[in-house]
Amino acid sequence: MIVLILNAGSSSLKYQVYNMTNESVLAKGLVERIGMDSSIVTHKSTGFEEVREVSEILDHVTAVRRVIDMLTNREYGVLKNINEIQAVGHRVVHGGEVFKESVLVTDAVKLEIRKLFDLAPLHNPAHMMGIVAVDSNLPNVPQVVVFDTAFHQTMDNVAYLYPIPTVLYRRHKVRRYGFHGTSHAYVSVHAAEHLQKPLEDLKMITCHIGNGASCTAIVGGKSVDTSMGMTPLEGLMMGTRSGDIDPAIVPYVMNKEELTMNEVNSMLNKHSGMLAISGNSSDMREITEAMQEGDKNAQLAFDMYVYRLVKYIGSYAAAMNGLDVLVFTAGVGENSAVVRKAVCEAITFFGIELDEQANAVRSGDIREISTANSKVKVLVVPTNEELLIARDTFRIVNELK
Ligand code: AMP
Repeated sequence: MIVLILNAGSSSLKYQVYNMTNESVLAKGLVERIGMDSSIVTHKSTGFEEVREVSEILDHVTAVRRVIDMLTNREYGVLKNINEIQAVGHRVVHGGEVFKESVLVTDAVKLEIRKLFDLAPLHNPAHMMGIVAVDSNLPNVPQVVVFDTAFHQTMDNVAYLYPIPTVLYRRHKVRRYGFHGTSHAYVSVHAAEHLQKPLEDLKMITCHIGNGASCTAIVGGKSVDTSMGMTPLEGLMMGTRSGDIDPAIVPYVMNKEELTMNEVNSMLNKHSGMLAISGNSSDMREITEAMQEGDKNAQLAFDMYVYRLVKYIGSYAAAMNGLDVLVFTAGVGENSAVVRKAVCEAITFFGIELDEQANAVRSGDIREISTANSKVKVLVVPTNEELLIARDTFRIVNELK
């Protein structure tokens, strides 16, 4: 089965095409600047040179049509015919409390996703544009939606409620949802497989640390707590997001600096985190380089980043009353040996023993970086959210047959 995976943003559309017979990627690409002048399409068919096109793409319907044109292009296309696409899978950020797993798109599902626009105003409306664009370009092809929040729906109310008036939960669904669920789910399954241990027997903490960052406590394959909250702003210190701060800072700063709600929101999401502390970068590579050249602000940003992550790992180990496996994934987790080393060296009392040589190896493969004696196994697991979306899409569409 050929499956098209879409991640629609408000002015962008990321795509990947999988042949599910062997889970190989046939093509992938990105449409940018949809609805603006000079939209850009970057397309790469496996085995061919990358193609870049600048044209006018006014909306998502036209963007999906362009993607199909590229996939069926005579020269570099990977499909003979548009009918070869048998299913489409969409990444959807917010599934609220309604969606506890991936589902087939129906009119009722579309209505529910629309009801969630309030909770994810920057993301869900864009995803819906992707779904509607497929409806009009591939009207007979089944679509599946895979939610970033779904994996965390197993959390207990002890973990997902905030200690604020419960009327806010009842009326407005103010609670912890958690994000990056597809990634946490994917890496936990692969970590258990790699260790050849049943996932059901493991207490695990998965650290998805990239530009956005979250960590999740997983018991027996189920998310029991996660650091992102009602929005992806809570939790760890990130590239440009603050993560946890005292909520009273918000009204205080609004008052002192005469900021509007939008301005303070933008400050916490776009001008905080490592960018704010280092003074010039949100990128862990640049922070590490500057730190090694003696930049004190970069050093402080790095130290705070690690310290806050370590605190979460400690609290989740306590929440689970144990820890068997610690997983690092995403841009920083997969690539930064320096961050992994600093984290592991701060929590040796758990019985973590880092294999420094294994940690220093650069590789795109899943690998263990703890010593044979380490009580807690430490793994680097490259994440692959698109593949998980493709697998769910394939499984759900197959069940229709
Ligand atoms: P992601 O959002 O998963 O793409 O991750 C982006 C983050 O990964 C950025 O902060 C990058 O600086 C970081 N990153 C990527 N490669 C490396 C590397 N080799 N060393 C340190 N950080 C890296």
